[in-house]
Amino acid sequence: MVLEKISKRGVRKFIGIGPVIASYITALSKTTSERPTISCYSSTADFLEHASLNQFKDEYILLKGARVFSFERISQWLEQKVHQTVMEVNLTAMVHNLKAYQQFLKPTTKLMAMVKAFSYGSGSAEVARVLQFHKIDYLAVAYADEGVELRKAGISLPIMVMNVDEAGFDAMIQFDLEPEIYSINIYRSFHLFLQNQGIQQYPVHIKFNTGMNRLGFEINEAYDLAVHLKEKGTMVVKSVLSHLVGSENPLLDGFTEQQVHAFTTACDVLSEQLHYSFIRHIANSAGIFRHPGYQFDMVRLGIGLYGVDSAETHQLVLQPVATLKSTIAQIRTVAAGETVGYNRSGVVQHESRIATIRIGYADGYDRRFGNGTGQMIVRSQRAPVIGNVCMDMTMIDITHIPDVMEGDEVEIFGHQMPIQQLAKAAGTIPYEIMTSVSQRVKRVYVEE
Ligand SMILES: *Cc1c(COP(=O)(O)O)cnc(C)c1O
Repeated sequence: MVLEKISKRGVRKFIGIGPVIASYITALSKTTSERPTISCYSSTADFLEHASLNQFKDEYILLKGARVFSFERISQWLEQKVHQTVMEVNLTAMVHNLKAYQQFLKPTTKLMAMVKAFSYGSGSAEVARVLQFHKIDYLAVAYADEGVELRKAGISLPIMVMNVDEAGFDAMIQFDLEPEIYSINIYRSFHLFLQNQGIQQYPVHIKFNTGMNRLGFEINEAYDLAVHLKEKGTMVVKSVLSHLVGSENPLLDGFTEQQVHAFTTACDVLSEQLHYSFIRHIANSAGIFRHPGYQFDMVRLGIGLYGVDSAETHQLVLQPVATLKSTIAQIRTVAAGETVGYNRSGVVQHESRIATIRIGYADGYDRRFGNGTGQMIVRSQRAPVIGNVCMDMTMIDITHIPDVMEGDEVEIFGHQMPIQQLAKAAGTIPYEIMTSVSQRVKRVYVEE
């Protein structure tokens, strides 16, 4: 039965661990025609001792079993052996953060999760699947491609696409994606497209510019837009939105209020003409709890979901979702007066122990972290970067940390090295650090 189910789901390889499952599998495997390759081990220890790593290549691996089997030993083994640099994404922490924000919402307020830019670096489909399970209302991505990827991964939640162009219209319809209409030009071209296809009442989202000056209709365009929408009927307005420029910043609270006022005006104009209700939304993560009065009908949760409180109020207990880890490739003693790395910029003052880490700027470890700006965690202590960050490697000074060995794990960011601190050191924001981790770095998903 198990076997039939998994082969139907496209599982190509099945590894059974434990004496009971092994006997079931051997009995059943004879009766199933299109079956995955099967191997069995009597225990986790047996697997770790005998399994070869070469059997895994370009595959997703699902580890599932009762606690007694200690499968976390297998995930550690895989992480260590397969990828030297990994970003661990803790989906349980993400759900915790989701709930932390939901506490601020009225029972009727809907929630849209921002999963643009590969879910702020954390991986779109995996994150979206968990959010869908927890019954949020909407997802939003920046570009059509990102939405298509979610649909292909089986995500069925409504998806808003923020930055559409004509090249993306086909994909919109084919994959049931809902564009944000932000200018009269994009309105016109989408209208013509829908008309050509004979489509009526296609769901769209109308964005107004209330001060960001990025995308959106001006408030004084609301009336004409409403008339067009009503008369042509090719689109139906699912929601109306705007974006706050500084919801995290108390100094900008006055401006936030102005933005909300302009937004309300635009919504009222549309509402008067359209005679049907639509969702109104303006608050992002910081807006959700700094401005609970501006929830309207929905909020858009972004960075907070991934464990960063952009307002730094310390009122929210969030858990870091992403941990970026690497390992030490080599350790050497370098004499006083020598230098480390390109251009001799890392000058060694006293005889030092220098460790070479398997991460560089091609992985998203910014060159700005060079020459002491960045620190990594080794055996729970901080070790500064020495010299310039290289493309694939970075050297750190571990002189003050005892017992470090080659192969040891190093934390780049996570619980011990908060992303906020790292961002500050490099003069940037957590958003940039998170979304810079390159696709070369494997994502490993953890659920507790
Ligand atoms: C990215 C984005 C958000 C989320 O912002 P956070 O600060 O990450 O919560 C909300 N709305 C729009 C339009 C966005 O582009």
